[in-house]
Amino acid sequence: MGTVSNELGNGIRTGEQYLEGLRDDRDVWMHGEKVKDVTAYPGLSRGAKTLAEFLDKQFDPELQDLVSYEEDGKRFATSHLIPKSVDDVKKRGAAFYEWATWSNGMFGRTPDYKNASVMAFAASADFLAEGKPEFAENMRNYYQYVKTNDKVLTHTLINPTYNHAQAKEGKYDAKVALQVVKETDAGIVVNGARLLATLGPHADEIEVFPSSLLTASEDNVPFTFAFAIPIDTQGLRLICRDTYDHGKSHFDAPLSSRYEEMDSVVVFDNVFVPWERIFMYREPLLCNRAFSETGAIVHMMHQVVCGKLAKVEFIVGLLCAMAKATGKDKDMNVKGMIAEAMWTAESIRAFQFQAEALAEADKFGTFLPQRRPLDTSRNTVPKLYPRLIEIIQLLGSSSLMATPTEADFSNGIVGDVEKYFQTVNLSSKDRVGLFRLAHDVAVSGFGSRQVLYERFFFGPQNVMASIYYDLYNKDEMIARVETLLNSE
Ligand SMILES: Cc1cc2nc3c(=O)[nH]c(=O)nc-3n(C[C@H](O)[C@H](O)[C@H](O)COP(=O)(O)OP(=O)(O)OC[C@H]3O[C@@H](n4cnc5c(N)ncnc54)[C@H](O)[C@@H]3O)c2cc1C
Repeated sequence: MGTVSNELGNGIRTGEQYLEGLRDDRDVWMHGEKVKDVTAYPGLSRGAKTLAEFLDKQFDPELQDLVSYEEDGKRFATSHLIPKSVDDVKKRGAAFYEWATWSNGMFGRTPDYKNASVMAFAASADFLAEGKPEFAENMRNYYQYVKTNDKVLTHTLINPTYNHAQAKEGKYDAKVALQVVKETDAGIVVNGARLLATLGPHADEIEVFPSSLLTASEDNVPFTFAFAIPIDTQGLRLICRDTYDHGKSHFDAPLSSRYEEMDSVVVFDNVFVPWERIFMYREPLLCNRAFSETGAIVHMMHQVVCGKLAKVEFIVGLLCAMAKATGKDKDMNVKGMIAEAMWTAESIRAFQFQAEALAEADKFGTFLPQRRPLDTSRNTVPKLYPRLIEIIQLLGSSSLMATPTEADFSNGIVGDVEKYFQTVNLSSKDRVGLFRLAHDVAVSGFGSRQVLYERFFFGPQNVMASIYYDLYNKDEMIARVETLLNSE
């Protein structure tokens, strides 16, 4: 870090420029106290440093043409490229995948995720003009702002549930849900809470978009809006969960010491949102169509499928290394379990390949990856990922607990750990390092949160499955059944 220089507002940003931007007046709370500086606060600082290192990679001459593109003499993140061909879609996919390999998919909320959505909304901004022509212009301007300043975004789509029965009817409760409390010539004032802003403390901006399932009743109108504001906006407060980065060395906690992307509930204490940052307002039915009709959902799924490929490939590598450590890799049952992870990786690869190869121009002239394979991935990975973690636990067994610390290799018990922790194929230190990594993937707080993330980050599984069912082209298949039943 620190070896690259760059002018702000000129496209891609350096890590140092990003970190400097986080040292603002943001109101972040964690572990019972207000965080003064997220770039220095234990439990948050190393996640910020990791993201800064990733941003610096955009200046690596060997990666530059992959993760950024040139326009009017400036360079911008590839995730901002509006795809006009299948090749552009593939270029975006290659960049998503590259970003994901930097953390082996364990830092899921890299900025390219939200960039995919902002790009899609801007490219199809005419859709927002159905609400008001200014909203389309606002979105185009916002895209330019995010793109030219390389801003890092988080988002919140969900209102907290106060009463499940009420939520089931598609209604929100005014006690907890984010709502408009005042409208002025300059903008709106919102009050309430939203969840869950992954990367919130490490983001520059927050997008507050509607969940896709609003009922069109009058009751819901005050809860219906889409806007984006800076994280340090007055009245905006982030309440973080416990950190999983406990300050351990990279050897002791290979993932949680690097990839802690904090999740936070967001409180809006009478927050003012200027009109120029509003993209939809008071139109539940328009909001419900937005993610699908703009293609934003598909472009986000594209980023996700590339990230999941990198993540599952890494788990395949981990499982193979674990099996080899003790020679279990000759066992047919062990091979069978690892093959399950391989099938998952290869399925995701095939989904990505098909979605990119069959990309087509949408009604706005933007090339859209084919939805169905991406949607299949978004519906199956939340179910398959927990199984992969189970396989790590089944193969790892007590080795996941036989995990002395780095310090034990240079203290009074070094003789014991060097002797009793070795395996046929690995020295003691290499074995402990490998299984500490497996522990961080499958047992630690960090690993458990990854499972929860995979289960839920894209939405409730039953909702996603129901949408998938509705979109699936079933008629021809039903017709075949009917043909058989009706045949003589
Ligand atoms: C680690 C993590 C990171 C996240 N990051 C983000 C983020 O960055 N931005 C963001 O906006 N959101 C984020 N989310 C939130 C995510 O979108 C929600 O968790 C998800 O949509 C489910 O909503 P919920 O948590 O309110 O659960 P609920 O809606 O309470 O659902 C909990 C369970 O109840 C079931 N259920 C709910 N409603 C019904 C119903 N009507 N009928 C039958 N069953 C029902 C669901 O299927 C689910 O299994 C994140 C979540 C996690 C766990």
